[in-house]
Amino acid sequence: MAFGDSSLPGSEARAKLKEVRNRLTSAQAVTVLTGAGISADSGIPTFRGADGLWKNYRPEELASPEAFSRNPSLVWEWYNWRRELIAAKRPNAAHYALVELERRIDRFWLITQNVDGFHRDAGSRKLSEIHGNIWMVRCTTCGGVRENRQIPIPILPTCPDCQGLLRPHIVWFGESLHPLDLDHSLAALRACEILLIIGTSGVVYPAASFGPIAKEHGAFVVELNLDPTPQSALVDLAIQGHAKDLVPQLLSPPPLSSHFLDSDRDSLLG
Ligand SMILES: [Zn+2]
Repeated sequence: MAFGDSSLPGSEARAKLKEVRNRLTSAQAVTVLTGAGISADSGIPTFRGADGLWKNYRPEELASPEAFSRNPSLVWEWYNWRRELIAAKRPNAAHYALVELERRIDRFWLITQNVDGFHRDAGSRKLSEIHGNIWMVRCTTCGGVRENRQIPIPILPTCPDCQGLLRPHIVWFGESLHPLDLDHSLAALRACEILLIIGTSGVVYPAASFGPIAKEHGAFVVELNLDPTPQSALVDLAIQGHAKDLVPQLLSPPPLSSHFLDSDRDSLLG
């Protein structure tokens, strides 16, 4: 790979990408599930392990209804820190490729576990943000939900309608998904011909059950992730690499010139 770019997929990955590309060309119903890996390519920390530490708190100690009722100021300080981090970053090529896929496919649905709002910012409209959105706030008194992009948000923020305390419109540890989001996601998983699972390790429920549900209902399931995951062996195709490199290639192959940078040209001729 003397002239190679390490981000270029090898010939095996290229063959798999081509197969998915061909299937997408004729598909009527496609569902996509995304997780932290797609936003990691925009520079967003995954908030797991050391990445997620803030003032020595683990996310589990802050993102819960108990933590919020104990110390709402502390929880809002943490969200202010996260909002600042996210506001400095932008959606990447993978987010934009999914907007284009939504445009091309008759029945498309995007399910994301990410709360950064990047899919919406990129232009995706047919989507469920199943864990909420960090730019939305919800009143703990009247339940009203609205967008709020203030940085920093004043602590403690109050509802303009009823002066109740506002909280992030996020699904916290110990809370259930919004029933409408769950229903819509399950319907899209059961109805799709192809499910793309992008940048998620498939270990967090209920999203971990989404691949098996789609497969049971006859979908062709594809996993795109930086590393193999526990679900890699269960899907129809698993492709390793960065989402920002792989997802755009589901729509069109990379320019010919970049193939020739790769020492392995065989698959080009096949
Ligand atoms: Zn209110």
